[in-house]
Amino acid sequence: MRSKIVAGNWKMNKNGTETEALLAELTAKLPNTSAEVMVAPTFVNLSQAVTATQDSKIEVIAQNMHDALSGAFTGEISGDMLKSIGIQTVILGHSERRAYFGETDAILAKKVASALEQNLRIVFCFGEELEDRKTGNHFAVVKSQLSNALFSLAPSAWKHIVLAYEPVWAIGTGETASPEQAQEMHAFIRTTITEAFDATIAQNVSILYGGSVKPGNAVEIFGKPDVDGGLIGGAALVADDFSAIISAI
Ligand code: PEP
Repeated sequence: MRSKIVAGNWKMNKNGTETEALLAELTAKLPNTSAEVMVAPTFVNLSQAVTATQDSKIEVIAQNMHDALSGAFTGEISGDMLKSIGIQTVILGHSERRAYFGETDAILAKKVASALEQNLRIVFCFGEELEDRKTGNHFAVVKSQLSNALFSLAPSAWKHIVLAYEPVWAIGTGETASPEQAQEMHAFIRTTITEAFDATIAQNVSILYGGSVKPGNAVEIFGKPDVDGGLIGGAALVADDFSAIISAI
């Protein structure tokens, strides 16, 4: 039985005071749900956010990490450091990391391996660009992103992986994949994992959809059988919107 998950990616938003305020509002408005609820504030506010949510069902997760455990990597954060402040889950491969910070599939494969060594759970993001969809290349692109970063893993690693399909053209643009497009791709992802591993792994991995999910479209998207929740950007910064999206699951 796979988990339902709603995760909020706060990106580079909210200073310390604002982080505490948003978490307090969110905690107060959190609907009663059996779904897992995660939020990813910036690195500097993680520790504070872990403390602020210790009595709530909100899990604080990280937006990124370096693959090395420690060393001369100025400005970077390791999985070990995340673990030491109580973080259990890290987002890897977000399209903004790929586009603005040069994260390739090969770099991501190293980050995935390192996160697993640290016993971190991974929310692994991937998805095609608009051009790939226009040219009908979207399935091939998604398959290669998955295969390059995840298909050398041991089968046992998959219990630590959550997938987040995020078509780049739908992130922060207000344009959403239709529920049918999301379902079609999520079903394709399960078939691809079945071929590379087996049906049990494919059926047990949670696959989130991300890309302009809002209170107004969440019910329809989450209603699709292979969509197990969402990775939410902009709407996760507004407590009323994020709680409405959580209610939709
Ligand atoms: C995201 O950044 O992962 C995301 C899905 O953003 P938005 O919801 O704003 O499109």
